[in-house]
Parts: sequence; C-alpha cells; structure tokens
Amino acid sequence: MTATPILNVAINVPLARVFDYLPPEDGGMLPRPGCRVQVPFGRRKLVGLIVDTADRSDLPRTELRRAIAVLDADPLCDANDRWLMRFVSSYYQHPLGEVVAAALPAQGKPLLAVHDVLLLNPLGAAADIERVAKRAPRQAALLRALTEIAPTPYRVLDQQLPGWRKQRKVLIDKGWIRAEQVVDDSCEQPERHEPHAGPVLNPEQRQALAALTSQEGFRVTVLDGVTGSGKTEVYMRLIQEVLNAGRQVLILVPEIGLTSQFVARLRERIGITPLLFHSGLSDGERLLAWRSARSGRAPLILGTRSAVFVPLRSPGLIVIDEEHDASFKQQEGLRYSARDVAIARAKHLNIAVILGSATPSLECLRRAEEGAYQHLTLTCRAGGAVPPLLRLIDLHKHPLEDGLSTPLLTAIGDHVKRGHQALLFINRRGFAPTLICADCGHMAECRRCDSRMTVHRGSNSLSCHHCGAVRPFDTRCTVCGGSCVPLGQGTERIEEALRTHFPEQVITRIDSDSTRLKGTMDKAFAMAMSGEAKILVGTQMLSKGHHFPLLTLVGVINADQGLFSTDFRGSERLAQSLIQVAGRAGREKQQGEVFIQTAFAEHPFWNELFSGGYHQVARFALAEREACAWPPFSRLALIRAAAHKREHTWEFLHAAAASANASQLVGVRVLGPVSAPMERRAGRYRGQLLLQSRDRRVLHQLLDILRRDMESRVTGRRVRWSIDVDPIELF
Ligand code: ADP
Ligand code: ZN
Repeated sequence: MTATPILNVAINVPLARVFDYLPPEDGGMLPRPGCRVQVPFGRRKLVGLIVDTADRSDLPRTELRRAIAVLDADPLCDANDRWLMRFVSSYYQHPLGEVVAAALPAQGKPLLAVHDVLLLNPLGAAADIERVAKRAPRQAALLRALTEIAPTPYRVLDQQLPGWRKQRKVLIDKGWIRAEQVVDDSCEQPERHEPHAGPVLNPEQRQALAALTSQEGFRVTVLDGVTGSGKTEVYMRLIQEVLNAGRQVLILVPEIGLTSQFVARLRERIGITPLLFHSGLSDGERLLAWRSARSGRAPLILGTRSAVFVPLRSPGLIVIDEEHDASFKQQEGLRYSARDVAIARAKHLNIAVILGSATPSLECLRRAEEGAYQHLTLTCRAGGAVPPLLRLIDLHKHPLEDGLSTPLLTAIGDHVKRGHQALLFINRRGFAPTLICADCGHMAECRRCDSRMTVHRGSNSLSCHHCGAVRPFDTRCTVCGGSCVPLGQGTERIEEALRTHFPEQVITRIDSDSTRLKGTMDKAFAMAMSGEAKILVGTQMLSKGHHFPLLTLVGVINADQGLFSTDFRGSERLAQSLIQVAGRAGREKQQGEVFIQTAFAEHPFWNELFSGGYHQVARFALAEREACAWPPFSRLALIRAAAHKREHTWEFLHAAAASANASQLVGVRVLGPVSAPMERRAGRYRGQLLLQSRDRRVLHQLLDILRRDMESRVTGRRVRWSIDVDPIELF
C-alpha cells in the first residue's frame, strides 16, 4: 500500500518556504495539486494552494498537521501555471504564497462555477430496483433517475422528482449513492462580429509578418517600428492566424487607458471582443474573466501587467505592446516585470512572444544584437503619414510666460485656427510643484517626507506626491508670516494659462487627478479623440499610444528634469517619453510639429536625438552602459530597507552587506549601503544596498542566502525590507 501523499502547500505569509500537511481526514474532494486547501496555521485557519504532493517531508509524519478541507472540485491551475508561480517566486525572491495570491482572482472564496450532482456507487448500481420499490418506492425512483443520466444534476432531479432530497441522505448513508460537485465551464461566449479586412500591408509590414509566421514554437521578436508604422496592423494579422488555429492570444498593454482603443480595433478587424483583465475590474468581473481564460472559452485576452498570470487553456501567442514601458514593472510587493515574466512563460509553453515598441528598451535591443531575439523594423509611417518635425526651443532666447514660450503659444494658435488639435505634455500634475515664501524663501515641506508639497488649485490644498499627505492651501508663511506664491508649473497651471490665452477654445486636462472619478477618463479621451477638445494638457497618461486623428502639434513644457537624472536610465527614459509624445502628432494626412522647451539647448543629448533619433540615443547609452557595466551588461538587485529610526535601517543594511561579503561568492559587487536620495518618506528612513553581477546565477545564489538571513533576523521586524530583482529605478 502506498502511503498517503504529503501536501506541499503555499500559504500567503511572508515566508519563502512551502508548508507540509497531511490530506484532510474524510473522503471529501480529492487533494490534487492546483486545488486550494484550508489548513491550520498556528492558531489560525488559512487557505493555501497545493503546489505539489510528495512522499516525504523534512518533518516526521507524526508531526505533520492535517489539512481541514479541500476547497476546489477541480485544480485551479495546471502544471504550467504552477510552474509559472514557482518561477516568479524564485526569480523575484518572493514568497510563493504571495505569488499565488497575486495570480488568483480572490483568496478563500469559491473560484470555480460548480453544480451539485448525484452518482450511483457500485452498491447502488447492483441493487435490485424492483425489490426496493416494494418497500421504498421513493428511494427506488431516485435510483432509477440516477441510472438515466449520470452524473445527475440536482436541478434535473428538482424538475423530474419533486421531494427527492428527502431520500438523498438515506441512500448516501447506505453507501448506494454519493454527492459530488462538477465544474461548470459554460461561461458566456465572447461577442462575435463580421471582421473587416484591413489595409493592404506595405512591403515592410509584409516582410515582418512573413518572418513572424515562418517559425513555430518559442521565439522572442522585437517589432521595432516608428510610431504609426503599422505595428498593430501586423500584430492583428498574426493574432488572427493563431486564433484560426484554435489557440488563445494574450495581449499586454501598459495602461488601462490604452485598452479601449485596442478593443475597438480588435473587434473591428478580428470580429471578437477581447476579454479584459486589469486592475479596474470589480472582484466579480475579475473572477468571470479569469474563468473564461482558464476554460479556454475566451480566445483573446487583453490586459495590463497582472494579466500575465491569467491561466490559459491553449496558449498560442503573447503580444506585449509598448514593451519599454515602465508600468510593466510592479514597483511594490511582488516586484515583477510582466514583460520578463511573459518571456519566461512563453519559453516554458514553447510559444512566440512579440515585443512591440517605437523605442525598444536597451535590454531588448541588446538581446537582439546578440541574436537571442529576432529584430524586425518598420521604418516609415504606414498609410502615407510623414514623421513630425522636431524643434528645440531655447529658453534663454525665448523666456517663459506662465510656463509657455512665445513660439509655442504662436504655434498653438496657428494649429487650432486650422481646425487641428494641440497637446501639451508636462510630467507633473497639480498646479505648481513648490510653494515658496516671497519674503523669507521658505518652502512648504511635507512633515513626513524629505519633499516639498505640491500646490493643487482645484482642491485648494497642498499635497505630498510621495506619501499622500494633504493639508489646506494657505498663502501665509509658517516661518515669517510673509506671503507665499506657487513656483513652477504643473498640469493645472498650464491649463489655467491656456484658458487665458485661448478663452474661446475647449481645453481638456488629462492626468490622474482629472480622471479619478469613474467614467471621467473615457469621457475625456472621447473628447480628445473626436476633436471636440482643441487643446489637450496632460501627463504621460495622455502621451502614450493614443491615436488622436486631428492632433498636429505637441508641446513638451519641460524636458530638463530628465537631462540631469541621477539614474543611469535617465537618457533612455527621456528619449522614450519624447518620442512617444512626439508620435501623437500628425498621425494622418497633416504633418505634425513638436516643440520641446529646454533651458539647456547645448546638452549633448539633444544632438544625439536630433541627428539620429531614438536609436542614436540608444547607441550612445549602450556604449556608456557597457563601459560602466550597467545593465544590460550586468544584472542588478536592490535591497531596500526603511524604519522609523534611522539607525535601525542602517543596522539592517550593514548586516546584509556583511553577510553578502561573508558569502565569499565571486563576481558580485556589493555597493553601499547608502541612504535613498529622498531619505525620509512617510515617516520612515530609507536606505539601500545594491548588488551587481555579470553572472545572473551567482547573483541569485547570493540573494537566496541574503533572503534567508534577512527573514530570520529579529531586527527584520522593525524594518520593512524588500528585494528588487532587475530594478528599473535605483532610488
Ligand atoms: P503603430 O501600432 O505602429 O503605431 P498602427 O498599426 O496603429 O501603427 O497604424 C497607424 C495607422 O496607419 C492606423 O490608422 C492604421 O490603420 C494605418 N495603417 C497601418 N498599416 C497600414 C497600411 N499598410 N496601409 C494603410 N494604412 C495603414
Ligand atoms: Zn509626504
């Protein structure tokens, strides 16, 4: 006789290990990997996922506790999905239970649609129904019903045999029948429409499509095409082929705001409304979406970052649009990159991944250079649109009036007069980033962070964009009693200035403040799309991916922050955001114009950008990174710590540095600890330790050691810490 298996259970607690349990006592549902179980944990009862079963445990069987009950009639995740969770947990050094929690649509609740059924046991099947009928006619009737349809749903019995429920227990007790639950995958089918044939592909698009369809199995392709070059058109042809072959396609986009446009295009071209999966769904909607993806009934799934975990019955292709976008990396909790996870997942599933971008990340460009990824380029705008003209406005020659230079104001007037739209991009929401006393120079600061308060006119308040603290706006200086004035520009102030200059025009502001209320974002984008709004002001929410047919002018209010970024990714980021926003201009018949205001017109960055575009900036940046051994020429991991007392942060990080050095692993540089540039945030003192290596495996070995060490350290309790593997922001 084989011993009962031991269940390896991932529980949502901040410890990396899995926990072993014996199966529940009675029959109940089978404890299969991928099902959830309720287990005793200390004095609590928690829900965990069975990630595996095993013959033995590190603990003797007598010391193992029994699981209380199995919660799912059918495994929620198959072996591939469980592989993905394990991979993410080990790669990102994050507790498996927390990865499971991130991947499933809800904790503890029923996730599968099930219905109850009755089945005959061998004993019941062998019973002589005629004889039973003489003594107990109702029992016999139930047995007869069960021989007709097996398994027999309760709802069928309710119709055919009213009162049957009274016989159920007697027959179960006799061992003649049993009750079970079966999974009901009959979710709604997606809406289907008549697809429209798209435009005839141009030669570059045809070549790209041919290269994409020429090979089966795992392959990563960078589809590197200028904005408006028809990348989406290429994806859609490939998606259609994969769907025709009966397989599912997962598309990831950086932001919810970009989904509606994509949905409309997919619906029109392919005739299927994609299933949406993003953080804006209610719990119920998320659950339904998760079920449809899992059952394979949803052929096409479109979502943001977290959709990378959606279970797929028959995966065929993953598309990542705007691959370079920072929103694919989660910056808290489980710090994963959806792009990198998608690539790993595709490799495991042996399917293709397409990474589309007009400004591919240096990581992907480098991988393409090495030949690990296929690199396809689309160099011209499809459908005859010409690239926009870029102009630098030197603010030493053209002073600002409310943040806007005369050439920019004139251009706005011209474009709008011709019936076109203008977009003004500024990466700062609020009215002004600083409130300064005109008498003593004191600046309003956050009480809990080393940062200044942003002035918000709309809500008449000061708010800290780092910790969320808010207080009433007051122009009296708290130090000298003098009077304070807002300094610098945010979206609100630019909007206000534009209203004075262009009082008769419809001006729409789009940032996370103006779109907070449900429905306001869709409305604002609809106004922008239809051309009703003549002047658009916004943050990167507005600058990415959108297609505004009438937009011909883009003004970048302040590009200079990016020029002096302390992060080694500064120039890559700046070039990406400028090219992205420039790409909104002149996407149809009219050529677009882009005005970039800078006080540092001599900075070499501008020469690189203007002489060779994004790829020139990328070449320079790659050479620089190679010389300094920054990624993609090395791997990084960042250990961050924060505590209410500064010495606790330092003590913790010094101990981590000491154990890194004591590990004697060769080939990892330990840099720091140093304090974060904005050291105090929300009342905590923050510091960090950077680990760098050319060898990913050694780096991960070290992280394994450090994580165990930090988990076990008592001081860890008063310090919040995290490991960020492949961080995209070093501060
Ligand atoms: P991208 O995804 O690279 O920004 P899109 O696929 O959105 O580019 O294409 C930009 C515009 O050009 C869209 O309006 C699209 O319908 C159109 N377009 C794409 N390919 C062609 C083509 N081969 N012929 C004509 N128009 C095209
Ligand atoms: Zn603050």
